[in-house]
Order: sequence, then C-alpha cells, then structure tokens
Amino acid sequence: MNVPRPHWRPAYVGIGSNLDDPRQQVANAISALGSLRGSRLIRASRLYRSPPMDGTDQPDYINAVAALLTQREVPEFLHELQSIERTQGRKRTATRWAARTLDLDLLVFGDRQICNDELTVPHPGIAKRSFVLHPLCEIAPTLRVPGMATVQQLCGMLRENETVLSVLDDQKDHS
Ligand code: ATP
Ligand code: CA
Ligand code: CA
Repeated sequence: MNVPRPHWRPAYVGIGSNLDDPRQQVANAISALGSLRGSRLIRASRLYRSPPMDGTDQPDYINAVAALLTQREVPEFLHELQSIERTQGRKRTATRWAARTLDLDLLVFGDRQICNDELTVPHPGIAKRSFVLHPLCEIAPTLRVPGMATVQQLCGMLRENETVLSVLDDQKDHS
C-alpha cells in the first residue's frame, strides 16, 4: 500500500516583542518555533530594533523573522503561533498595536493567497514594513511573495525613511 508522503511547505514568521525582556522573548519564540511538531526551523534572522509603528510612547521593538518547513495546514499553523504567543504572556487588548510580550505574524505560507476573517496571507503589512522586510531579506532575499514581488524588490521599494533599522550587534548570525 502506498503511504502518502508528508508535504512540507515553507512558512515565514515575523516575530516582534517590546515588553518583559524583548530580546529574550524573541529568542524564546525562535526556540519554541524550533520545537513545533510537524515543522522544522530552517533559519532565523538576526535581531533588529525598530521604533513602535504608531509613534506612541511605548518601548522600541525587537524584531526577527524565522523560516520553517511545515506539514501543517494554514489554520493549524496559525493556531500554533497563537499558542506560543499565549505561552509567552501575550495579552490581547482593544488597542491596536499595543505593546506586547510577543507577536507572531504569518508572513508567507508557500504559494498561498488567503483572505478571510481570521487570516490574510501574505500578511497585509509585509510590503510596507522595514522591520519585516529587512530581516526577511537577510534570510530569503529571492523569495517571491505571492501576488507581489521578491523580498529584495520589495525592500528596494521601501520609502527612504523606513529603511534605517539597527541590527543588534552582540549576537551570533543564525544562518
Ligand atoms: P498587524 O496584523 O497589523 O501586524 P497585530 O499583529 O498587532 O497587527 P494582532 O492583534 O496580533 O494584530 O492580530 C489580530 C488578528 O489578525 C488575529 O486575531 C489574527 O486572526 C489576524 N490575522 C490575519 N492575518 C494574519 C496573519 N497573516 N498572521 C497572524 N495573524 C493574522
Ligand atoms: Ca504584527
Ligand atoms: Ca499579530
């Protein structure tokens, strides 16, 4: 009897934190992604520091991007990301873009283009956010974001004032 071979799809996850030791939160999140059953962590970017998106008075964010291969389907994978967020103390508030211990956004999932109440993939902010595109470009410059362009091309289209981000220096390159 033929047993179907599991199908592995690439998934890219944006990681952000600005509360309760953000560098450690991001490191813990990368470790948790590496422990997911049915998925494999392939690469993680260095850590980047970025100011809050809405310009409000909250601490700077630490950001990174991780690349995985997964056998999971999209909703299941998103629920696993949300479970890691909860484990690391993420509290959902009514305020959009409030400070948080951990945010995991599903940036790209294979060649899928999805738009429903729970999920939009590729993530709608991907093309505008330097704190997503810079770490993503570090680990996957030639990745084609479905319906858009390559990561490198999207990076080149960022507005000038969105391109400056500091890379945290005292860390090893995971690649
Ligand atoms: P943004 O999505 O603009 O980065 P945010 O990350 O602060 O904002 P959250 O409060 O973390 O937003 O998520 C709000 C909802 O977004 C979640 O309940 C989830 O269902 C939905 N969502 C839609 N698309 C995605 C995606 N690609 N990755 C993660 N969550 C998503
Ligand atoms: Ca987000
Ligand atoms: Ca999110």
